[in-house]
Amino acid sequence: MTASVLDKTGVLIYIKRRMRLNRKKKTAASLIVLLLMLFAVSCGVAEPWQQTDQVLQFTTSTEAVPLTSETPHTEASIQVTHSPVPADSTEELTYQSITISQTTAPEANATERHVDVAAVDLSLKPSEGGKIMVLMYHNIGPEEAEWTRTPENFRADLELLYEKGYRPIRLSDYVRGHIDTPAGLTPYVITFDDARENNFRYLEDGSIDPDSAVGVLLAFAAEHDDFSPHATFFVNGRVPFRVEGEEEKKVSFLIENGMDIGNHSDGHENYTSIDAAGLQKSIGRQANYLESLTPHDYKVNTFALPFGIRPRDKALHRYLEKGEYDGKTYENIAVLNVGWDPWYSPFHKNFDPLTIHRIRASEMNVDDVGIRDWIRYFDEKPEARFISDGFADIISAPASFAEVMVEREGKILNLYESED
Ligand SMILES: [Zn+2]
Repeated sequence: MTASVLDKTGVLIYIKRRMRLNRKKKTAASLIVLLLMLFAVSCGVAEPWQQTDQVLQFTTSTEAVPLTSETPHTEASIQVTHSPVPADSTEELTYQSITISQTTAPEANATERHVDVAAVDLSLKPSEGGKIMVLMYHNIGPEEAEWTRTPENFRADLELLYEKGYRPIRLSDYVRGHIDTPAGLTPYVITFDDARENNFRYLEDGSIDPDSAVGVLLAFAAEHDDFSPHATFFVNGRVPFRVEGEEEKKVSFLIENGMDIGNHSDGHENYTSIDAAGLQKSIGRQANYLESLTPHDYKVNTFALPFGIRPRDKALHRYLEKGEYDGKTYENIAVLNVGWDPWYSPFHKNFDPLTIHRIRASEMNVDDVGIRDWIRYFDEKPEARFISDGFADIISAPASFAEVMVEREGKILNLYESED
């Protein structure tokens, strides 16, 4: 050890002096010298230091770092904190801590998530590459019309779907591929556009109108244990469900009861010739407004295109997904069209959450592609229909789907040979 080296930093002086006092720890100290040299250089601690009578002390500790299932890896880290000491200081030189820790992830995440492919009942012919219906309703009212379903017909839709093995799921679960519909059953998605009063109305006695959309859904759920009233209400403009003063109460009620609020634009604009600023205002202003009504941890991140129209300028389409308005960013996980056919499984290579097709939940002027037509279609062509295996983390499909299935993170693809 030369004086020139010793003079470089207080760190080096400390270490080298300790080495003289305790040569048995030479190997360990050498490692620490190396680490501290690197540290000193990177921190720019390079003050000449001449004090010789300092009280110097190291303490070390090892702490277990708890791991979650999201950190399935081994990691080591070295952390050094210090108090720099000026050249003429007579104060104690303190290196507050050096922490060297190594943690190893648990080996079997799989057992925690209860993923066991052998538990899948293949006799139920799970088919998770099949298509899913996203239903589009507007009004619920006393007279059936092109954009109005009577409460009776809405109830009949729910009943028919239920009998045929369909169960509603949340739109966000659909796009995220989190489908835990019971084995052998088919998920579907219910949506309402425009958030009219007939979707959610309180009667004078404070009860929910049983003939409003929410009233019908809740009554159906009360009568069927394995039916959750999942539906997304896409709101355009101010005052969802059109009664001032009830906005927050209604929105909170929906979210607490498994339903969702979606964005349907600020002014129900026609986007054909809109510009970038106008598009971001239309989406962002409405997202900001709706989030001001919802609990703070709730994201309004699904969007239904007004009139189902996209900007002619394709360069603007990215703003349907992400953008900024009034200093706040928005990000949509789903963009819904006005469509006419079922949409892809979230595990199918053609699935695009930003162009989700919907089915008109009507029987009037639907050109043979309305809700009842598609229910009949799947009756005749069950192999086209999504059938759940009952496990959100296992994606089961007949081997004939092998070419079109895509792996999604955290999911196990379970292809099987079908008898037919
Ligand atoms: Zn609309």
